[in-house]
Amino acid sequence: MTDELLHHWALHLIDEEAVRHASDRAKLPDLRRVQEARLATERRKVEASAKRSAELSARRRALERDAAAFEVQEKKYRTQLDAVTDQKQYEAVQHEIAGVAGKRGDLETTVLEILEEEESLAAGKPALDAALAKTEQETAVQITKLGAEETRLAERIAELDRRRTEATQPLEPAARVRYEKVRVSKGGRAVVAVTNGACGGCARNLTPHAQQDARKRDRLLTCDGCGRFMMLPPEESGT
Ligand SMILES: [Zn+2]
Repeated sequence: MTDELLHHWALHLIDEEAVRHASDRAKLPDLRRVQEARLATERRKVEASAKRSAELSARRRALERDAAAFEVQEKKYRTQLDAVTDQKQYEAVQHEIAGVAGKRGDLETTVLEILEEEESLAAGKPALDAALAKTEQETAVQITKLGAEETRLAERIAELDRRRTEATQPLEPAARVRYEKVRVSKGGRAVVAVTNGACGGCARNLTPHAQQDARKRDRLLTCDGCGRFMMLPPEESGT
């Protein structure tokens, strides 16, 4: 195993870890959105219930005002009733009274129905509030954890960046430039292991000749498929 290979293998290990951390970090915004969506759902339930309550209460008060107006009207007719003298007039006023009383009765029935729904909403409110409070607490814990994970990964990635810079120091300037170029263009993975006779980056099979070259462990190979540097891992040096 040459120094060149050992230096590149060290870079391989650094880069694989950095890529893993970067991938984990990329998942964090989605995980945060899941928590936010969960909280928003619970908030919407509480808001919808409050909105419905307010609508019902406003509607009920309007109906109660209408019913009161019919009651006033009914009283007026009853006063008229005392004053009428002939049967026909009496029947006509009685008819009016029955009309407004019927309308008032219908309104009162609706008011009772609304009251029932308002009561049912009020009865369900503590459970909704409790569920929201619980979700607020749980999502806050999760979001704090995700923030801590973000910090941890960022620190780890920064540390790996420092180690990578160090690990490239022993390389020839031209080799360092080549490595950096491939790393940047290949999703952070410039050096890959030859695994089961194939490139560890793109899975392209090596020719028997290239496999033989890899086993010599005297120089870096370049994959014809993805352009990454390839080598057999040092721990397989017995094969
Ligand atoms: Zn490849």
